[in-house]
Amino acid sequence: MRIVLLGPPGSGKGTQAALLKERLQVPHISTGDLLRAAVKAGTPLGLKAKAAMDAGELVSDELVLGLIEERLGQPDIADGYILDGFPRNLVQAEALDELLARLGQPVDKALELTVDEEQIVQRLAKRAAEEGRSDDTEAVVRNRLSVYHQQTAPVTGYYGERGLLVEVNGIGDIETINQRLVDALD
Ligand code: AMP
Repeated sequence: MRIVLLGPPGSGKGTQAALLKERLQVPHISTGDLLRAAVKAGTPLGLKAKAAMDAGELVSDELVLGLIEERLGQPDIADGYILDGFPRNLVQAEALDELLARLGQPVDKALELTVDEEQIVQRLAKRAAEEGRSDDTEAVVRNRLSVYHQQTAPVTGYYGERGLLVEVNGIGDIETINQRLVDALD
C-alpha cells in the first residue's frame, strides 16, 4: 500500500510512520530524514539543502524530487511505502503523481494527522530539548508552521479532490492514534 502521511510539523508524522512501517512491513520514506542524512554526510546535496533547512524554509523542489525519484527507484518499495514529509507543496504533489503514473503505481491513500497549533508548539519545544534538532528553535518553528500553512496545507485539498484523503485525529496517546490510522486504511 502506497501511503502519503500529511500534517503540520510536530503532528507526530515521524513517530506514526515508524509504527506503521512495522505494522504494514513497508519502508518509511522521510524526505526530512534523507535530507538530514545528506547534511550530516556533507554531500553536495546536503550542502545545498542546509541553509533552507536551518531557516525552516522548503528545500528546492528540484533537489527533493531528485531524492524521491532515486528512492522510489529502489526495489524495496515493491509492496508500498509510507511517505512522510513529502509532498510538501502542489508542485511536488503533481510531480509525484506523474512519477507514479509512469510506474503504474498511484498513491492509495493520504492520511492527514490533525493537531491544534498550541499542541504543536509544545511538542516541538519538547523535541528541541530531547533531540537538539537545529530547526526546532522557537523562531524557526514559527516559520515552519507558516510555510506549512502557505505551501503544504493545499496538498490536503489536492488529495481530497481525488477522493484519497482521510483526516485522522492526531491528539491522544501514540498507540491510540496509530490504531486510528490503521482503521483509516480499511
Ligand atoms: P521534516 O523532518 O519533514 O520536518 O523536514 C525538515 C526540513 O527538511 C524541512 O523544514 C525542510 O527544510 C526540509 N524538507 C523536508 N521535506 C521536504 C520537502 N518535501 N520539500 C522541501 N523541503 C523539505
